[in-house]
Amino acid sequence: MKAISIIGSTGSIGTQTLDIVRQSDDMKVVALAVCSNVSLLKKQISEFKPKIVAVWNEDKAKQLKNDLMDDSVCVVSGMEGLIAVATYDKADIVVTAIVGMIGIRPTVEAILAGKNIALANKETLVTAGHLIMPLAKEKGVSVLPVDSEHSAIFQCLQGECASEIERLIITASGGPFREKTYEELQYVTLEDALKHPNWSMGKKITIDSATLVNKGLEVIEARWLFGVAPEQIDVIVQPQSIIHSMVEFKDGSIKAQLGTPDMKLPIQYALNYPSRKSIQGERLDFTKLSGILLEQPNRKVFRGLDFAYDAMYVGGSMPTVYNAANECAVTKFMNKQIRFLQIYDVIDACMQAHNVISNPSLEDILETEQWVYSYIHKKFSA
Ligand code: NAD
Ligand code: MG
Repeated sequence: MKAISIIGSTGSIGTQTLDIVRQSDDMKVVALAVCSNVSLLKKQISEFKPKIVAVWNEDKAKQLKNDLMDDSVCVVSGMEGLIAVATYDKADIVVTAIVGMIGIRPTVEAILAGKNIALANKETLVTAGHLIMPLAKEKGVSVLPVDSEHSAIFQCLQGECASEIERLIITASGGPFREKTYEELQYVTLEDALKHPNWSMGKKITIDSATLVNKGLEVIEARWLFGVAPEQIDVIVQPQSIIHSMVEFKDGSIKAQLGTPDMKLPIQYALNYPSRKSIQGERLDFTKLSGILLEQPNRKVFRGLDFAYDAMYVGGSMPTVYNAANECAVTKFMNKQIRFLQIYDVIDACMQAHNVISNPSLEDILETEQWVYSYIHKKFSA
């Protein structure tokens, strides 16, 4: 029995991970963490019987403790609670399905406790990849990608030698605004941005897909996961989300991984690696495809991608600034405090104003995040 801990069990990745557990006879859930959706957590507790659950919100955690008749479940809260779930001694693997760089500390603590990581929480690797990957190596734990593009690359690399990679080609759907001009983007709404053509995901990543910041984050994520140089990573738009990514090798040969757009496949691959298991769901049917479209991303309009390359080349604390500025800007966009294109202005302003810290420690990263938030508050709240 593989014992699984999920940080973010009520979200899109979290609930799909539980779907996989439900279909598997060799997996069990031992620990869950959520932000505030206690009513769904209660259902998950009664179905999966975890030993420990964390609720970020302290009052809701207290309420849950009162409501649960069963004291075989330990209820914890706050960052301490997240870390308790991430390091729970009976867990073999931790699925990091939390959104945002708040995932850094639990991920680091899980690695220190010797847990393998099924990593969905890309913001953690973008900001702290230079600390996390060496730490995982030192502790002998695996960081297995859940993000579909990185799972695709990981699958293409099986049996291959990392030194023979020429480049990674990350595919992007292009999001709901792929064909829009700069002028048209001035008037798009939150509701428009939340309509992703292929994937049903959490709100933050859906907005990131519309700005192409998600692809920028994935480029930096790939750099750390696969240990390649920034110039070895390319992005191409594949609007149907059928080719999930590709690897070109030194001899010019290209391997791709294809499938329907369904996150259950990469989640299951990470949980069962190196085995493959049968999975329910639609299969790719080539007879129904009219073609597979590939095109260049419109980098002039969707500036989120080039900011990521700039941040990656500068390195140090700059990827943290890119990520934290985006997290803050997306929250403002979701609260209807800024317009869609202003997300880029916020990221740009923060990156321009930042004094880079090279080789930042965990504390430097968290302080940089705070700097970004206070800079945005001063500059954009007027
Ligand atoms: P989501 O918003 O649907 O879910 C987020 C989860 O994190 C929820 O369970 C929420 O309760 C939990 N959470 C948030 N803040 C928390 C806190 N302070 N303490 C405890 N729990 C907290 O997000 P999602 O779409 O599932 O994405 C999760 C991560 O996976 C993100 O980093 C995203 O970029 C990545 N990812 C998602 C998809 C996808 O298809 N949804 C694909 C690839 C990568
Ligand atoms: Mg992805």
